[in-house]
Amino acid sequence: MHTLNDELVEKDLKYIWHPCSQMQDYEELKPIIIKSGEGVNLYSMDGKKYIDVVSSWWCNLLGHCNKRISNAVKNQLDTLEHVIFANFSHPKAIELCERLVKVLPKGLEKFCFTDNGSSAIEAAMKMSFQYHYQTGNPQKTRFMALSDAYHGETIGALSIGGVDLYSEIYKPVLLDIIRIQGPDCYRCPYGLNCKNCQAQCIESAKECFKKWGDKTAAIVIEPLVQAAAGMKIYSPKYLSELRKLCNEYNVHLIADEIATGYGRTGKMFACDHAGISPDIMCLSKGLTGGYMPMALAVTTKKIYDAFYAPYNEGKAFMHSHTYSGNPLACAAACEVLKILRDENIIENAQKNAIYFNNLIKEKFSTHKNVGDIRSIGLINAIELVEDKATKKPFDSKLRIGYQIYKEALKKSVILRPLGDVIYFNPPLIIQKDDMDYVVNVAYECMKMIIN
Ligand SMILES: *Cc1c(COP(=O)(O)O)cnc(C)c1O
Repeated sequence: MHTLNDELVEKDLKYIWHPCSQMQDYEELKPIIIKSGEGVNLYSMDGKKYIDVVSSWWCNLLGHCNKRISNAVKNQLDTLEHVIFANFSHPKAIELCERLVKVLPKGLEKFCFTDNGSSAIEAAMKMSFQYHYQTGNPQKTRFMALSDAYHGETIGALSIGGVDLYSEIYKPVLLDIIRIQGPDCYRCPYGLNCKNCQAQCIESAKECFKKWGDKTAAIVIEPLVQAAAGMKIYSPKYLSELRKLCNEYNVHLIADEIATGYGRTGKMFACDHAGISPDIMCLSKGLTGGYMPMALAVTTKKIYDAFYAPYNEGKAFMHSHTYSGNPLACAAACEVLKILRDENIIENAQKNAIYFNNLIKEKFSTHKNVGDIRSIGLINAIELVEDKATKKPFDSKLRIGYQIYKEALKKSVILRPLGDVIYFNPPLIIQKDDMDYVVNVAYECMKMIIN
């Protein structure tokens, strides 16, 4: 029988080029058509339930179809859907900034609105270069970034990324970036443990700053968690050391908190673990609870002031996006901050995080192919290796992670490993029974694929 679901799958494959996909894979694993969502669950057209432990690409913060956020957007929808954001403004954008200033690291108080994470990174890079240009340092034209970094997919953002899977083929058209060998705690070259090391691996950054510091506008980093690289976690000490280097060499610290912000690491922002303030912070994903595409590049008054001058001096930041400050997105973002506060979401999630992490450790740590288990907040990652002693990875052609993903889907769990790193990054509202279920499924599926 040809069902409505079959028909939609057929049409989907006829028209849609899905993100980050080899479309030929869809011949075997058809697109799953989702009809509705509630809390951590998604429901498909063909009547299956899925637990969304990847928060729909790390953006869903408080569950699907959260009543409060939905109502906030509905109210806004009947009031004002969009307005040009040059010369014009609206109450929800202003409210959002006022609420954010109270929770952001000190000094971040000027808000530049964009409409996705990559574009916030681009805005931050341009802003940093122009600041230096207008304050007597036009030679600062370079950017630094860490190995294994991920900052998005547009040309500038992709350039500073260091994950070959995404950028290798485009190298001929990308910016020339100064690449710092970043922290790699599982395979630490110093043989140390990131829980109590002194971030000795900052050495590589020090050398780069010495050599290139006076030519560099900014360094862009993912604070504490390099998510796309496989949820690689490093010490807050590294962040505070970087902050010092940046001060010494007049290099901006751009913190990409697109994935780590909004309680994912157990604190509001990953930078809070180190008690540092970046010069520019980029936010997206959790910003709107995963409801609407919006992003921010938030900066200091010091940077803002370098652009503030009579018009004819040509110092303005001539950067814009059509949907800058979209009111629907701002309404969602305001409600998210209210919910985080009213319902003590981050504190409660942190209590559950301890349970979740223990559960994962108990289940996985003794398995012969589990090389590393790392966690921060509700983010937990399990790195599978062929040989635990040497930490030798599996041959990537085996696509172990992908096989596990397909098995888990059959058992109602959206796992979507990064390479051979199985990870959990659920909405902050996930409860213990769902944690039990997803950990069991992940373990069963792993055993099914690698014994
Ligand atoms: C997702 C992500 C981005 C890119 O955001 P998009 O909205 O997908 O462009 C940038 N940096 C980090 C750390 C991310 O996780």
